[in-house]
Amino acid sequence: MTKHGALGVAVIGTGRMGADHVRRIDAVTSGARVAAVVDIDAERVKAVAEGIDGCTPYTDPAAAMAAPDVDAVLIASPGPAHEAALLEAFRHDLPVLCEKPLTPDAASALRVLEAEQRLGHRRVQVGFMRRYDPEFVRLKALLAGGELGRPLMLHCRHRNASVPSFFTEPMLINDSVVHEMDQSRWLLEQEITAVTVLRPRPTAHAPEGIGDPQLVLFETDGGALVDVEIFATCGFGYQVQAEAVCERGTARVGDAHGMLVNRAGTWGGEIAQDFVARFEEAYDRQVQAWVDATRRGTVEGPSAWDGYAAAAVCEAGVRAQATGERVAVELIDRPALYR
Ligand code: NAD
Repeated sequence: MTKHGALGVAVIGTGRMGADHVRRIDAVTSGARVAAVVDIDAERVKAVAEGIDGCTPYTDPAAAMAAPDVDAVLIASPGPAHEAALLEAFRHDLPVLCEKPLTPDAASALRVLEAEQRLGHRRVQVGFMRRYDPEFVRLKALLAGGELGRPLMLHCRHRNASVPSFFTEPMLINDSVVHEMDQSRWLLEQEITAVTVLRPRPTAHAPEGIGDPQLVLFETDGGALVDVEIFATCGFGYQVQAEAVCERGTARVGDAHGMLVNRAGTWGGEIAQDFVARFEEAYDRQVQAWVDATRRGTVEGPSAWDGYAAAAVCEAGVRAQATGERVAVELIDRPALYR
């Protein structure tokens, strides 16, 4: 698969996630190297490339993808830039790890699906990294093993300490709850058919124009129900929890706080402050799994179909949020490439 031993990766977008992936591929991942970095911010990309042996900075994704030492692409630019980068990668038939979202809406995600089908083989893994988190992997194995019987409900919590000033209400769905959408589809092996959003009286700490927290309900085609508490300004840290309620038992992940300390009349552990810390191991495993699969010449993990389905559920979710109504999810039939 690789032309030069280690997989030469071009990382597109060198902001928060992209720079972290560059560090990861350079220092943690085996079998890969950062051959190119791309950012429309010329200063930033030059600074990121410095200090990495044999890494060329570019401001144009197409130029990086045409470079002879680039074997694969990791897209970490903002969502609206993903479609163009994906279609360019397809032109070079390059394997892609695309940060979520695949694209920001279902229509553009569908164009990507159609383009990948025209290639005739899968090329895209979408960055739904919870599928690589050790706790979520154990929950998935337990549910798939059938020991607890059929899953009936999932109770999910997704809490952020705070949100940046540019955060908007639809971002609660598109940037945060999108992870529970993929997590639920993956754990239950069911499609989400409808979304409803309920709101309590907001916290006094909610930014102007954002009703925070919210309760998001999913219905699925297998008859399961999922509730998601999204609380973006909880103040105390970043927390992601899920409990599966099944016919013969329940299973819960996300409580682990690492070391527990008894001290001065208190008992407890620490709470991660952001997703980079909470899901560090998941990001590492996700990128390693992508590199390993790519070197074997296969494509595994969340597919462009999963990216499209999440985009379609997000659209319904944002509409449910805006109208207060139950909104049905519209999905095309799953194409043969993704069955
Ligand atoms: P960011 O704003 O910190 O960085 C984006 C970078 O991309 C910036 O440096 C910007 O200059 C650059 N850029 C913009 N347009 C570009 C283009 N057309 N070509 C190349 N570079 C371009 O954003 P971020 O927080 O790093 O998010 C990047 C992606 O990662 C988004 O898709 C986001 O949704 C995703 N993300 C995923 C997770 C996760 O948990 N999986 C968490 C956060 C963000």
